[in-house]
Amino acid sequence: MVVGLAVVMGVGACSASTSGQPSSSPTESSQSASVSADVRPGPVPARVVRHGPRDRNEVALTFDADMTASALEQVRNDKIPRQVNVPLLNYLRETKTASTVFVTGLWAKEYPGEVKKLAADPTVTVANHSWDHLAWTNDCYGLPAVSGEKAKTAQVRKTSDLLHELTGKYPQFFRFPGLCHNPKDVEIVSNQGETVVDWDVNVSDAFATNPDLVSASLAKQAQPGSIFVFHANGAPNAPETLAIIKKLVPALKAKGLKPVTLDQMLG
Ligand SMILES: [Zn+2]
Repeated sequence: MVVGLAVVMGVGACSASTSGQPSSSPTESSQSASVSADVRPGPVPARVVRHGPRDRNEVALTFDADMTASALEQVRNDKIPRQVNVPLLNYLRETKTASTVFVTGLWAKEYPGEVKKLAADPTVTVANHSWDHLAWTNDCYGLPAVSGEKAKTAQVRKTSDLLHELTGKYPQFFRFPGLCHNPKDVEIVSNQGETVVDWDVNVSDAFATNPDLVSASLAKQAQPGSIFVFHANGAPNAPETLAIIKKLVPALKAKGLKPVTLDQMLG
């Protein structure tokens, strides 16, 4: 069963992600503007960022690069395609459309060249999406769950260490698989020096079949500070991401909204 992306599908994922913590202003961040660090950062305040400043005309297009153990097995057995949406990444690169890519450790391990390419691009922030996309809660879209502080900490650190090894930098942002988390989970991530990022626009590209409809809905909801969630995997679970982005980016610009990286938005 392909569950790599199934957890972040569309309507409902946003409310499922609610941790019960108040949304705090990004200006409360103690992080410096230089986001990626070459030494492991110390603990940061426990908080969940759902959007950036509402008084700047910036939005963040974020792309999760999911990979579960079962998805990896399917890739290796040629049951599903390579989980890199190359046309999408090329489009973002060629149009200099700023983005943030949350990579799972398994994805980074399988596609180290892609990670290095992303990290070398000044219009991209590379961030952490756990090691193998296990759920942090027991009711997260049917995903198998990880439990216990030690195992959860390892979900953060293993990927951070690999990203550091590949890029020379530690990531400073973390997104939970399926956006499922409890307040204690946010503390665990924050203790590792990474800030939790959710989203505030409640439609995703997962399983989307009508790019026109999705991009129109996203454009309508977009406001200063909006954080969008997409996927960098491509088919089978996110086959229409590029088509959505190609329509959405001009629509955002028409609203006076500029895509920036999370480094820029939250730095
Ligand atoms: Zn994911």
